[in-house]
Amino acid sequence: MRDQDVRRIPAELLEWYDHHARVMPWRVGPAQRKSGITPDPYRVWLSEVMLQQTTVAAVKNYFHQFTSRWPTVRDLARSSDADVMAAWAGLGYYARARNLLKCARVVAFDLDGRFPDTYSGLIDLPGIGPYTAAAISAIAFDRQETVLDGNVERVMARLFDLHDPLPRSKPLLRAHAEALTPATRPGDYAQAVMDLGATVCTPKSPACGICPLRPDCVARLAGTAADLPKKSPKKPKPTRYGIAYLARTTEGGWILERRPDKGLLGGMLGWPGPDWGETLSDTPPFDADWRDFPGEVRHTFTHFDLILKLRLARIDAEQVPVSYQIIPRHDFRPSDLPTVMRKAHDLVRDR
Ligand code: SF4
Repeated sequence: MRDQDVRRIPAELLEWYDHHARVMPWRVGPAQRKSGITPDPYRVWLSEVMLQQTTVAAVKNYFHQFTSRWPTVRDLARSSDADVMAAWAGLGYYARARNLLKCARVVAFDLDGRFPDTYSGLIDLPGIGPYTAAAISAIAFDRQETVLDGNVERVMARLFDLHDPLPRSKPLLRAHAEALTPATRPGDYAQAVMDLGATVCTPKSPACGICPLRPDCVARLAGTAADLPKKSPKKPKPTRYGIAYLARTTEGGWILERRPDKGLLGGMLGWPGPDWGETLSDTPPFDADWRDFPGEVRHTFTHFDLILKLRLARIDAEQVPVSYQIIPRHDFRPSDLPTVMRKAHDLVRDR
């Protein structure tokens, strides 16, 4: 692509964004920004943490619940760990929730409730990596930072017709994205590229006919757009096996354990049971008259598939070891559990 063509791309994208920006609960749209309204860094930060590895559709409801219950970073910082983990249940990647709370407490108690307004200040906070620091500093503070997510990578690969496969091509895609990031309206620009990738330059069938970049897009002209970006073949996912022990007291209370802070589903409530592995380990957490349940839970994590067998029992509350929590029947809310644990409950709840 010629230099003069590259130079006009940011302005073309911003003009498109002015008319086609997606409406998001955390977003200050281009018209509002032009009228002087600036984004609330708390809402931008919260949305960016929630959006890590998670779709916009899945995040919207959680974002609404969090901001209704905790409208400011100080409100969130004062809440209990258990309340935040329960509110996060179902969103996955639970280390994010633990770091969210740590970060809220640093901002509220050490930084007087104000988020740092630069990449270097933001990246020092818990749970904020390079992508999130760039996104917050661009979107909340209009800093000239480049935000590179899957949408932006796809747009860059197509715009410049780059056939090197991901993830090896990331540095090259970043270099192109950085070269395009403008000094004026960098926050709107970052959101414009992401919106274009999410709504027009989509993975399977890019809508080149309505794309503002179609005159300059090299892959469109070459007829290769739908094949890009190329990706290195993924390794097959391993399968792990486990048993969840779902016990109730004779009064109907559920017996759960709080998982250790570190590791998968860290800090969340869950059904007792040994670690999941390549072979089945059948070690009941405590003595009870355990019986097999005829169904099993299948769940997909990022790095493995899980097959979880279930065992059921009834036990007197006095016989439950103190390291477990008994949640009385009327206080038990399946929505406080991570998805895999909730699936197990949903299978056995009437037994
Ligand atoms: Fe994507 Fe087509 Fe636009 Fe190129 S012209 S950026 S391939 S939608």
